[in-house]
Amino acid sequence: MRRYGKHTDEDDVRVRPNRRGNRPRSNIRPKHEDATEGMVLTVDRGRLHVLVEDRTIIAMKARELGRKGVVVGDRVAVVGDLSGDKDTLARIVRVEERSSVLRRTADDDDPYERVVVANADQLAIVTALADPEPRPRLIDRCLVAAFDAGLEPLLVLTKSDLASAKDLLETYEPLGVPYVVTSREQLADGEAADRVREQLADRTTVFVGHSGVGKTTLVNALVPADRKRATGRVNAVTGRGRHTTTSALALPLPDDKGWLIDTPGVRSFGLHHVDPSRVIHAFPDLEPGTEGCPRACSHDERDCALDQWVADGHAEPARLYSLRRLLATRERREGD
Ligand code: ZN
Repeated sequence: MRRYGKHTDEDDVRVRPNRRGNRPRSNIRPKHEDATEGMVLTVDRGRLHVLVEDRTIIAMKARELGRKGVVVGDRVAVVGDLSGDKDTLARIVRVEERSSVLRRTADDDDPYERVVVANADQLAIVTALADPEPRPRLIDRCLVAAFDAGLEPLLVLTKSDLASAKDLLETYEPLGVPYVVTSREQLADGEAADRVREQLADRTTVFVGHSGVGKTTLVNALVPADRKRATGRVNAVTGRGRHTTTSALALPLPDDKGWLIDTPGVRSFGLHHVDPSRVIHAFPDLEPGTEGCPRACSHDERDCALDQWVADGHAEPARLYSLRRLLATRERREGD
């Protein structure tokens, strides 16, 4: 996995603090020993909302960070006015090394990849069983993005009162993806929220889903309003119904049992950036079999060693079929 966000301060440890005006003309940067740690909750019109201790402050990226992006989920160091009072603006001077990076490209033709969320460990793919119909292609694409990023996927199926989950679950059974099936009634009475929360405990979970699947209802059931208020300004953002930016939004789960990161509804999940070898890494039963593959094997060609690997009984044929379906989803356009 590629890692970004390696901070530059380690090289500066032996630099003695310089008095103002006596600063050497080099790229040695101040260490910001007095900086406070925080977590980025959302980005709203270019301003970052950062949770510092028990309050949310507004911050901007310090110039010294250059073009480095700061995204939701980032652990950051902030300096300046940390009161969180109206019209105050703190500065983010450092982004800590990320444990994971969830990316997407706006479109498959678009070589520009965007980091969506940092430091998550799970991707919850919310899909309605009917109204709207499930879109297995989109689910596959989300799975590929999760495997690429090293996140564990979770299927959250809604509206089971309208259609059975059986067929969909059969499709994903070989992948061993954990799932929760919920009906609208179970969502209304809180029973579904309890079961979903069990899957989220002590983790940071990104929620994705296209519009109409009931993601917002689910998120509201999982994160009570008082928890949203606990993060201060975030409530102000969502409370106005103004959270229409393209940014994700991190919300704390009750009893500090992890984080839920809501994302705007997705219509597609561009996979231009995906490296097949990182996807195969999520298939430990198949990965060793690729050693016999030709160079730059697509794993769906005549000389691919995985067929023999499966024929020799090292892995289930359904696993190879699923892997190939996922890898192929990179090649196909959305909706094909
Ligand atoms: Zn191969």
